[in-house]
Amino acid sequence: MPLEFTHESLGQRVLFGSGQAAENLAQEIHRIGGRKVMVIAAEFEQPLAEILTVGLDITLNYSDVVAHVPLEKAEKARQEAQDYGIDVIVSIGGGSTTGLAKAIALTAGIPIIAIPTTYAGSEATNVWGITEAARKTTGVDNAVLPRTIIYDAALTISLPVELSIASGLNGMAHCIDSMWAPRTDPINQALAAEGIRALAAGLPAIKANPDNLDGREQALYGAYLAAVAFASAGSGLHHKICHVLGGAYNLPHAQTHAVILPRVMALNAPSAPAAMQRIGQALGSTDPIGALNSLYEQLDAPRALKDFGYEEKSIEESIGLILPFVPASNPRQISADLMRELLESAWSGKSTAESYASSR
Ligand code: NAD
Repeated sequence: MPLEFTHESLGQRVLFGSGQAAENLAQEIHRIGGRKVMVIAAEFEQPLAEILTVGLDITLNYSDVVAHVPLEKAEKARQEAQDYGIDVIVSIGGGSTTGLAKAIALTAGIPIIAIPTTYAGSEATNVWGITEAARKTTGVDNAVLPRTIIYDAALTISLPVELSIASGLNGMAHCIDSMWAPRTDPINQALAAEGIRALAAGLPAIKANPDNLDGREQALYGAYLAAVAFASAGSGLHHKICHVLGGAYNLPHAQTHAVILPRVMALNAPSAPAAMQRIGQALGSTDPIGALNSLYEQLDAPRALKDFGYEEKSIEESIGLILPFVPASNPRQISADLMRELLESAWSGKSTAESYASSR
């Protein structure tokens, strides 16, 4: 097969170092020339923000962060940024916090320095999302891509283990979905494969010892690679399913991704042998489905959407909502029957080992 592709890389400065975020932040604000600094951190992230900004001249501390960036919250934050003449935004927190910073940057073009404290990866993408009347709209705009990312694994130690696992599997989903997403190419596949390896090493170490900095560093490094791969490859089947379910039924982001991932992988597996071989190599196994299931058992990972508020009676409606969004490039044709099978197992938590045995 000839090697031929078009790949776009997004330009960002990435500073990675445990225990170095405060120092790196001061230097980056200076380098960017920020004089009016807005710090965004949600309530749970405030203790981290306080430590990182000691001694800095902060114009506005902002904590009104709500998951999925409701439009009215975005507009309020935009207004405050304008009123204070803000010229650099520092976001300290998970994907919800980064998402609010992006919503401001989208209309005001203010540069963002992102300091992530989960493994969601929003800091490394040019994708924004805003929710209006219970519908989340997403878009792509380089204005929202953080200018600088400061990674400091020590900041993720306070993230509870269960959320760390779910968030890390959100990163793993970015990697695995990149293998068959609409703009998949050899470069984002290489990044995704290394991301799978790093996350598969880091998450068990976090589970075994949540204060383990080596595990946290591997997970954060993997989460970054995952997000870069995802931003480049685009949303595959997995992300389309999670986006629809999260938006329509208000399900928690990371946990929904964690539950759906092994099912999408098992569903696509018969039609994507090269991708599965690559995923297997990254997981160190010739049986990628078995290896991912073993990892889930080891991590005691989220398995069933019924544990997170999804109801069995919503399955039929969900099929109708999801099917129009299935990417044309997905390696397997997705029928309503296959989607029902996937959602039933995701709802109940049934093992994926024996799923999709019949190739319909
Ligand atoms: P989140 O940002 O909502 O954080 C989950 C909870 O953990 C929050 O209560 C938060 O305050 C708390 N928290 C975060 N870091 C902590 C820490 N270190 N210690 C203690 N508590 C901490 O969840 P998330 O999974 O990081 O992000 C999900 C959101 O990000 C969704 O809205 C999703 O759509 C978006 N997202 C966007 C992209 C993108 O490319 N645009 C990519 C991934 C996720």
